[in-house]
Amino acid sequence: MTNQQKRICIIGGGFGGLYTALRLSELPWQQDQKPEIILIDKSDRFLFSPLLYELITGEMQTWEIAPPFAEILANTDIVFYQEEVKGIDINDKHIKLADSRQLSYDKLVIALGGKTPLTNVPGAIDYAIPFRNLQDAYRLEEKLRLLEEAEQDKIRVAIVGGGYSGVELACKLADRLGEKGRIRLIDRGDKILKDSPEFNREAATKALEQSRVWLDLETEVEQVEADTISLVYKGKVDTIPVDIILWTVGNQVSELITQLPLEHNEEGLLITQPTLQVNQQEDIYALGDVADNRDATGQKVPATAQVAFQQSDYCAWNLWASFTHRPLLPFRYQPLGEMMTLGVDNATLAGLGMKLDGSIAYIARRLIYLYRLPTLKHQLTVGFSWITQPLVNLISNED
Ligand SMILES: Cc1cc2nc3c(=O)[nH]c(=O)nc-3n(C[C@H](O)[C@H](O)[C@H](O)COP(=O)(O)OP(=O)(O)OC[C@H]3O[C@@H](n4cnc5c(N)ncnc54)[C@H](O)[C@@H]3O)c2cc1C
Repeated sequence: MTNQQKRICIIGGGFGGLYTALRLSELPWQQDQKPEIILIDKSDRFLFSPLLYELITGEMQTWEIAPPFAEILANTDIVFYQEEVKGIDINDKHIKLADSRQLSYDKLVIALGGKTPLTNVPGAIDYAIPFRNLQDAYRLEEKLRLLEEAEQDKIRVAIVGGGYSGVELACKLADRLGEKGRIRLIDRGDKILKDSPEFNREAATKALEQSRVWLDLETEVEQVEADTISLVYKGKVDTIPVDIILWTVGNQVSELITQLPLEHNEEGLLITQPTLQVNQQEDIYALGDVADNRDATGQKVPATAQVAFQQSDYCAWNLWASFTHRPLLPFRYQPLGEMMTLGVDNATLAGLGMKLDGSIAYIARRLIYLYRLPTLKHQLTVGFSWITQPLVNLISNED
């Protein structure tokens, strides 16, 4: 960094942070105005989380859904630090890293995402597995592998949460475990996917029925132990033996965020302006699951990759505008619909005037996500692998 060069630090390299960095580096900077762009993430890989389920069925490999940052950023001037952010000094404008280094910034983008809260139900933190990142998927994979090798006749899985993650996981696990699987999906509401379009809910309900996933609706989890889950239905407690408990409910920000002297909502999420600047802080932007996201009209928008991805365009543009003395733009959310995987070779998709399910939706979902993967090079490599894989499988089966 030269003496006069400004610095933008982006903390968190997920849908909000990585895509902001990539977009920023492509904007038309004048040579003497271009700031240094630093991206910091504790992981060495970006995770395309909507495809995380595919690891459990072996439909995809880690390299496809989680390319290393070093590879993604290879042909850019973005500087990547693989380090955990431990603190932010708002007054002195610097970030504290886990290795005790400190990095100063002129502009800061907070895109650290959220985590699954496990402390609300006794035992959940010790025995339930969240499903949010690669480590969670590997932990689940290891548990499944041990149970499958043990050759017991049933593998009993309880999935807490009848939202997208719970339903998608249930369908994929049902396909993986086949006849051995005894899967139950638990939700306190009276229906699954309460925020989804009717078409998707119906397709998901049908897929769950066909996969023989048991639905426990209007049911609360009271307690979790190593091999049991206690459920409350209409005031009656039932303790059921289980082999795996998966927890998919909720979004919570880390203490690092809640302790910052910034404005938070009651859930601890950062309150931002429509320009994505944190309230009262013109040099700090926040987007994605860490923020109380609203669009230009003040409407609450969901904590999804679709939102974080769209925000990243605005965030990059507004940073550029703030350096080049142009007006900042308010975030306008364009809902593009909803897609869900419902097992191997099955999905549902509703949005932009389209409704698809079954194999067609499965292919459409894959293609849409392929297009969303970061960098053209990664899209091409993954696309090529998808086209050639059936051929490779055919040849290796014949050998
Ligand atoms: C299994 C699953 C499936 C999903 N499916 C969909 C879907 O189909 N459609 C959809 O729209 N949304 C989906 N979502 C939601 C979507 O993934 C999130 O809303 C989106 O990732 C939020 O983006 P983000 O940038 O805020 O956070 P993330 O993408 O979570 O990125 C946060 C980044 O910050 C890093 N980080 C966190 N703390 C620190 C720290 N202290 N120091 C350094 N780095 C740190 C993390 O390593 C991570 O890379 C899914 C989520 C999951 C878990």
